[in-house]
Amino acid sequence: MVSIYRRRAISKKEEILTLCRKHSDCIFVAFTNATLIDEEFAKQVREVGNLSFSISVEGTEESTDARRGKGTYQKVMKAMDILKKGGCIAGGKHYMHINANGDVEPCVFIHYSNANIKDMDLLDTLKQPIFREYQKNQPFHDNLLRPCPLLDNSGKLAEMVHKCGAHSTDLLHPEDVDSLCAKCQKISKEWGETADKLWETDPRRKEVEDKIQDFRC
Ligand code: SF4
Repeated sequence: MVSIYRRRAISKKEEILTLCRKHSDCIFVAFTNATLIDEEFAKQVREVGNLSFSISVEGTEESTDARRGKGTYQKVMKAMDILKKGGCIAGGKHYMHINANGDVEPCVFIHYSNANIKDMDLLDTLKQPIFREYQKNQPFHDNLLRPCPLLDNSGKLAEMVHKCGAHSTDLLHPEDVDSLCAKCQKISKEWGETADKLWETDPRRKEVEDKIQDFRC
């Protein structure tokens, strides 16, 4: 993995894409405030497939703008929306995570697995039951503002983990999936109500729902 820390790295978009294409056996991570990410660049990033971003944001709009200049927070949110357009990418769809113990997890935030890299080939880990559950259920919601099986779709992660018998891979604090999902239930419900209202008037809604309909047929 190659990390790109250069200040305003994304101002060199073409050079970065050229690097990614040239070294297609590497994964690049650019540390950026993301303000220069637009639709066209996001499209090219999807095409090269080996570039991801660590996006800097202070937390609230107030604290971000105080440090980085007025309007920065809204630009960062817009860039995140553009990059998020594909919904959940985890479970081997476009991405997965391997922890320090070698457990192959659907996502860096989801610590449940049926496979360890020490026991099988990487390609075989992609066929593990929890990855199959992810792929069978993606997208987890027609509303692109609710992509996550843990945070945006209450109980979905627990349902998949129970179905496939994945175990907790949290190295320090193994956690029962029902207990984890219960902790997220309130915020998931609240965000779900807000996200559904926002989605009603989202200009992408019709196109996305048509695509999902075709995908499921
Ligand atoms: S939507 Fe959730 S599970 Fe999917 S990649 Fe994002 S954090 Fe991970």
